[in-house]
Amino acid sequence: MEKKSIAILGSTGSIGTQALDVVRSFPDRFEASVLTAANSVDILIEQALEFKPKLVVIINELHFNTVKSALATVDCQIIVGEEGLIDAAEFAEVDIVLNAIVGSAGLKPTVAAIKSGKDIALANKETLVMAGELVMGLARKHNVKILPVDSEHSAIFQCLVGEENPIEKIYLTASGGPFRGKTTNDLINVTREQALKHPNWAMGAKITIDSASLMNKGLEVIEAKWLFDLDVSKIDVVVHPQSIIHSIVQFEDGSMKAQMGAPDMRVPIQYALTYPSRLKNEFKRFNFLEYPELTFERPDMDTFRNLALAYEALEAGGNRCCILNAANEIVVDAFLKDQVSFLGMSDVLEETLCQLSNSESLSLDDYIAFDKESRLMARDLINKLRN
Ligand code: NAD
Ligand code: MG
Repeated sequence: MEKKSIAILGSTGSIGTQALDVVRSFPDRFEASVLTAANSVDILIEQALEFKPKLVVIINELHFNTVKSALATVDCQIIVGEEGLIDAAEFAEVDIVLNAIVGSAGLKPTVAAIKSGKDIALANKETLVMAGELVMGLARKHNVKILPVDSEHSAIFQCLVGEENPIEKIYLTASGGPFRGKTTNDLINVTREQALKHPNWAMGAKITIDSASLMNKGLEVIEAKWLFDLDVSKIDVVVHPQSIIHSIVQFEDGSMKAQMGAPDMRVPIQYALTYPSRLKNEFKRFNFLEYPELTFERPDMDTFRNLALAYEALEAGGNRCCILNAANEIVVDAFLKDQVSFLGMSDVLEETLCQLSNSESLSLDDYIAFDKESRLMARDLINKLRN
């Protein structure tokens, strides 16, 4: 069997390294032909020495010489700078692009991959939050598959395999994060360290903070709308602290299909790479007796306002989700630098949405411009709050 050639954008991150775990366990099936990183040069070099890719991209130009001399023995092209992500996404011999970049930097490479006819395993949910309508339209036009990596969306996708029937509703499950059950008062002084302690998953810093604020679930509601072409009224969130049921589809006869398993991102990553097949692996299996109780709660959208903001943005349409996403990247970065409080993040998001007017003009350049404007506005609001 021909090996599947994969470009892993963001190979040094949480998803990227787990994807390479999958590649490592199926050396006859997969080949990591392209690796990219923003700054983590040591990990990137180590990965390139092990996987011998054809192309390596390092965004930060300061690292070019380090990468070049470390990879002198590897027969590969090395590109620096953001433009390299486009080369990576379009790389001729690649069969599938795994987009595991964090944030809106993932949008242009997704679009480039689609336009060059490559299927995409999509972890970068921000791509769809920013420009879901445009991206899904392009994917249809170029006849490429967008295979979800996000565990909830992989779950829905798996429940829909072989189904032609309409969906009545989907339930995205949420762990509730480290602050589940807390009141607004409890959250006034929470620290970066407390927010970074996720109960069930080890992930990159940005998505971990998003999970603590329930923004991650908000972004996922938006992601689900575009991936599965659903009206927002059909997308519900249920808190399920054990993270065993990864999400649920309800059909019009009342029947529900849930996809479940041990929480391990390598499972949805592997499925996106092997779809429609499943390959036997040795990952830990779920044991019912270790979890005699699977529980469910309603999400508290009064305390965790970001989830409500995401629903509102999705209902309003236009540029609202793009603005919310961009402002969120700024507030999360500021929270990680102790420049804004946990609850202050939602205040800044709300105010940014309020200050910037809606627009229905929705080209790729428009989205990139809204993204930029929203970042500046959020940054400005944070500075004002600090003075
Ligand atoms: P991470 O921070 O661990 O890794 C991000 C990767 O992107 C790194 O390789 C980094 O070098 C690269 N990168 C960062 N900024 C970049 C930029 N401006 N340009 C190009 N490359 C850049 O993040 P992660 O947790 O692996 O998450 C990646 C994506 O997957 C996010 O969109 C996240 O929401 C999504 N996701 C992650 C998980 C998880 O378990 N980690 C689960 C579901 C979805
Ligand atoms: Mg998820």
